[in-house]
Amino acid sequence: MPAAAGRAALAAIVGREHVHAPDGWLDDITEHPAGTATLAVTPGTRDEVVEVVRWAAREGVAITPVVAGYNVAGIAIPHGGIVVDLKRLDGLEVDPDTMTAVVEPGVTFAQLKAHLDEHHPDLAYTYPFAPPFTSALMNALLDGLNNLSMRGGAMGRWLTGVEAVLADGTVVRTGSGGVVDSWFGRAPLPDLTGLFISTQGTTGIVLRGGLALVPKAVHRTRWFAFAWSLDTAYAAMRALARSGSFDDVGCMTWPSAKLLFGATRGLVRADDEPFAFLFIDITASTAEELAARVALGRRVLADAGVDAPFEVSQLVKLMPGMAKLAELPTTLDFLLDFPGGGLAWVGSYGPGAAWVKGAEAGLGVLEAHGFPPFLVARPMEGGRYWVLRYVACFDRGDDDEVGRVRSAMAELADVVLDHGYVPYKASEGAAARIVARADPGFTELLTRVRDALDPDRRMNPGRWPGT
Ligand SMILES: Cc1cc2nc3c(=O)[nH]c(=O)nc-3n(C[C@H](O)[C@H](O)[C@H](O)COP(=O)(O)OP(=O)(O)OC[C@H]3O[C@@H](n4cnc5c(N)ncnc54)[C@H](O)[C@@H]3O)c2cc1C
Repeated sequence: MPAAAGRAALAAIVGREHVHAPDGWLDDITEHPAGTATLAVTPGTRDEVVEVVRWAAREGVAITPVVAGYNVAGIAIPHGGIVVDLKRLDGLEVDPDTMTAVVEPGVTFAQLKAHLDEHHPDLAYTYPFAPPFTSALMNALLDGLNNLSMRGGAMGRWLTGVEAVLADGTVVRTGSGGVVDSWFGRAPLPDLTGLFISTQGTTGIVLRGGLALVPKAVHRTRWFAFAWSLDTAYAAMRALARSGSFDDVGCMTWPSAKLLFGATRGLVRADDEPFAFLFIDITASTAEELAARVALGRRVLADAGVDAPFEVSQLVKLMPGMAKLAELPTTLDFLLDFPGGGLAWVGSYGPGAAWVKGAEAGLGVLEAHGFPPFLVARPMEGGRYWVLRYVACFDRGDDDEVGRVRSAMAELADVVLDHGYVPYKASEGAAARIVARADPGFTELLTRVRDALDPDRRMNPGRWPGT
């Protein structure tokens, strides 16, 4: 359909001022090439989104949904058709009884936290290192990792149900909210919520979703501790995770600290600098419980050969820069404002037994391509599985560097799969690798689901290639 006719039809649905030239939606901060689109729309209500999808179905137009576009995988870059930007859908309702927040796609982490702090100070959500302006619902739909994922697993598990509009314009619901007037959970129903998790918008546009909240802990402390090798970092994280006594345990390798304190290029680790720092969150209902957990934590760290921890509140007094890591959500401006503005990573989930070897192999790939060995990691779901995420900051204007990032990310996707890890928020390249290695039964079922829900592959085209 010609752009002018599309513009008029869409303007009749969302209003003229909410139909845009697509220029601001064609690329992101990653190494992925810019895409193409005819138009972008910014609907303001659920009904407008549904009408846009119905119009696209009638016209056979592809749709790429987006909120902030900070997925760091290039998976909201459009491949033709229109972009539907959902930032304006920011409805949010909390049910304190079932401890759920039903949120629209445009609800950001900052908005959710501010709402809870003001109206439900006894409840909390779990936050990532992602910028405060990104979508809480997308983070859950992408199966991300937040600061209670060490306890509660990847964020898809925190979804209690969704309402979505399918490619043909049908509105569907999953979870308890699809049956009764309460979004308390996914049990005891056929678990159809999974159709929308990690599928990257290919099965439909989610209009709202239930997020599980938790009681806010009364007592809390946060530590940093230094580890001098990957082995000691792993031993400490594993023991802390398996004790069941800590909220969050994770680690970042030394380049993150250099970047945090303002260095950008030529990063070198001195002999007296630790290889990684661990962050550890401890909460409790009483002061006595907190003291017991603190004592246990100190013992576990010492047994694992990790230096005595620092309380973040004390450390921040000495090094105010550390405040960026002290409280979530946060803006890691040292990643977002790296000269040239590029940020890329391969993140993955997999078994602990392969963590050290996988970390070493992936860091080797980064270094071989001229990037510092920057790893972010965390045990998930009590240590059932683990995170390996290799990070590269780069200059998007430097073609040579972009080329090296692309090669590194492609190799890293293979490295993690070689170690039994599976990329999350998979870029097109990583998704193709997953599909190529998957059991034929996995690929067959995903293909059939997509055939049933979007036979023309108009929803976020290009994602999950090969299915
Ligand atoms: C510095 C930095 C740190 C980060 N740290 C973390 C972290 O610690 N943990 C973590 O999990 N993530 C992290 N992220 C990744 C990411 O920012 C978050 O997961 C974020 O919540 C994604 O939200 P978004 O608004 O950017 O989503 P978008 O990128 O806009 O969308 C994500 C995907 O969902 C699709 N989509 C958009 N709207 C819909 C819809 N309504 N229905 C269906 N599909 C839709 C898009 O097409 C895209 O494929 C980080 C990102 C940055 C830049």
